[in-house]
Amino acid sequence: MATSDATPGVDPIAAAIGAVIDPLIANEKVIAAGFAERTRLLAELDRLGHDPRIIAGLCGDPVESGRNDPDTGAHGPAWDDEELARRCMAAEAAGALRLKASTAGIMVFNAVRLTDQLPQFHAALARGSITWGHALKMLDLTDGAPEEILPAFEAKVLPAAEKLTSTQFARVAGRILERMHPVPLQTRADAGFVTRRLVLRPDADGMAWLNAYLKAEDAQAIYDRLSRIATTLDTDERAEASAPGADPTSSGPSGSGTARTKDQRRADAYRDLLLDGVGPAGLGHGIRGTVHLTVPALTLLGRSDEPAILEGYGPIDPETARRIAGTATSWSRILTHPETGCRLSMGREQYTPPADMRRYLDARDRTCQGIGCTRRATLSEIDHTRPWNTGGPTDVDNLVHLCTPCHRLKHQSSFTTNQGPGGTLTWTTPSSRKYTSAPANTDPATYDPATANAPTTYDSTSPTPISPAPSPPQQGSTDTPPPF
Ligand SMILES: [Zn+2]
Repeated sequence: MATSDATPGVDPIAAAIGAVIDPLIANEKVIAAGFAERTRLLAELDRLGHDPRIIAGLCGDPVESGRNDPDTGAHGPAWDDEELARRCMAAEAAGALRLKASTAGIMVFNAVRLTDQLPQFHAALARGSITWGHALKMLDLTDGAPEEILPAFEAKVLPAAEKLTSTQFARVAGRILERMHPVPLQTRADAGFVTRRLVLRPDADGMAWLNAYLKAEDAQAIYDRLSRIATTLDTDERAEASAPGADPTSSGPSGSGTARTKDQRRADAYRDLLLDGVGPAGLGHGIRGTVHLTVPALTLLGRSDEPAILEGYGPIDPETARRIAGTATSWSRILTHPETGCRLSMGREQYTPPADMRRYLDARDRTCQGIGCTRRATLSEIDHTRPWNTGGPTDVDNLVHLCTPCHRLKHQSSFTTNQGPGGTLTWTTPSSRKYTSAPANTDPATYDPATANAPTTYDSTSPTPISPAPSPPQQGSTDTPPPF
């Protein structure tokens, strides 16, 4: 989203709203600068903690300070100088800012990362061109990312942070990071799969987390049942492995060639029961989950490792994508082709877009194209930008996803929309400001925010034309089970 010049004074309504919006924007920049300064000061505090002179002052003489006394030792082994200094600084910040020490510690840690590893984002925050929310998303995204790619990554995604909401930015930047990551997604996906497990975490107020927020006793009982099922799987696998002629390196469904750990078996039981399980009264019978997957054609053919995109999640590894596309019939597949095979224009012949056009629009927009809105396209309505009853055609250039609230805003207020090439949608607000949202189906390889023309957002090119999966039609509507 980008701001264009307002034209205050022309229209009294625009002037009245502008008189509030202009200072609001100025205030937001002040707030961002305040966060940048707090970050700088917390990082400075951390630097003091690494100063040998300061460390000496903090630790004092080991005898005098009592660090090596038996009494002190009874509270656990003494911290080393670095750990002691880190904790002292976090406690100073915690006291000064009225925070828990652990919260202050995380803030100091993030401050050091933002100033040292992400200086371009810190500078942008200081000048108010991004918000603290964007900075936090960037910290999340880059947590664990290889340090050597950070400068190039920052430069690449900063323009997107300056135009998009923090949520939209995180999506775009996540895909770009995927591209720039030196370790292939397949390798990371394989390593991640090995660590699958179920985590049960007690929470306050008689509740607990088991991925779902449940009554504590229910969560405990579910976890226990899964553990017991995992144990029976273990017994079965041992029996199989010890059977005459069994291959000692083979294993069950993990496909990893080694026996599954208890964590893995518990996670697999959880998955199987939730995907296929039916309750005693028939609950869930005949109901299958469906997900939407966009697979580049060359990936499907095994000639590219371009990730496929799982709607509502993001990139997934090519091997999984190929497996799903090859075996599944209950998944809605969309293949991206260099040239389009689907109908992109129905003109005035019919009001309702046909199924292949809707799939194209789903894949192009992914979300509602309202201002800052990220509601999924599949939960949104398709709007004729130029209304049907005033001659607007049923063409992809005139159709866009809007969720119900955004759709209402357009039709019931003086907000207006105008569609540009590739599905970019420009909103004009009552105060005459313009905001442009762009479709999400952006190939990260070709996306270069640095060269994108304002006020278009993160997509400098038209979206790759997309065609639905080739015939037979309605791949996604059968009742066969999902592939996992
Ligand atoms: Zn919306």
